[in-house]
Amino acid sequence: MTGIIDTHCHLFFDNLFSDIDAVIERAIAQGVEAFVVPGIDVETSKLAIQLAETYPMVYAAIGIHPNSDIEPTDRVFTQIQQLLPHPKVVAIGEIGLDYYRNKFNSDKQKILLKHQLDIATEYQLPIILHNRNAMDDLFECVQQWQNRISPSQNRKPKGVFHAFSEDLNWAKQVIQMGFFIGVGGVITYPKAHLLRDVVQSIPIDYLLLETDAPFLPPQPFRGKSNEPAYLPIIVNELSTELNIGKDVLIKTTHRNSKILFGLN
Ligand SMILES: [Zn+2]
Repeated sequence: MTGIIDTHCHLFFDNLFSDIDAVIERAIAQGVEAFVVPGIDVETSKLAIQLAETYPMVYAAIGIHPNSDIEPTDRVFTQIQQLLPHPKVVAIGEIGLDYYRNKFNSDKQKILLKHQLDIATEYQLPIILHNRNAMDDLFECVQQWQNRISPSQNRKPKGVFHAFSEDLNWAKQVIQMGFFIGVGGVITYPKAHLLRDVVQSIPIDYLLLETDAPFLPPQPFRGKSNEPAYLPIIVNELSTELNIGKDVLIKTTHRNSKILFGLN
């Protein structure tokens, strides 16, 4: 396999970062050609840029994750914006809503999200969205944002709902709004019926591959740290689910990733 793109891996977390040369080498040996590393706060966004400066095949996304529990201050948004002009920054993310871990601060999460959505418009960058138990509110925020942007911007692909975990009905609404659907290790879990239904029912033109490393390892590595080198396991499973060749799956998701993030 060659040409696989990991559109979502947090290579700055210690268990990956401490061994980063080997992590990247192992992934390349397995056919991974590019990595998108989304920050979860200002510090890790800077680390993502640092990785992108060190490795030609690494790209950075800049954002404050809802679980980072950061106050939505002007200072934070300014810090974020200062990182964006870097040539290897390809997206705003990881941003979104998470009511599983942090339902109590949903108002604060929404303020963080809305500001970062508007920053994405200003800098014309796609967005990487995180959702956990918050799809209604997240979809509403994204829809309101969409209504604020110009028709010409509206025609561009807008981003990805990463680690998609909702049903087919939501998936259809998401792709209709101009978003991709990120699929990772969860597709290999025996209980992932909902996700199997989604990937089998939407056009492959809306799928992106991702690991979310070090989280959500594929089935054989559950309970352990995930890494981009495990992407072929996801490719195998997905090509079986979709009943298409691995080469077609890789080629199409490669093209989808480039349409969304550029990655030049
Ligand atoms: Zn993530």
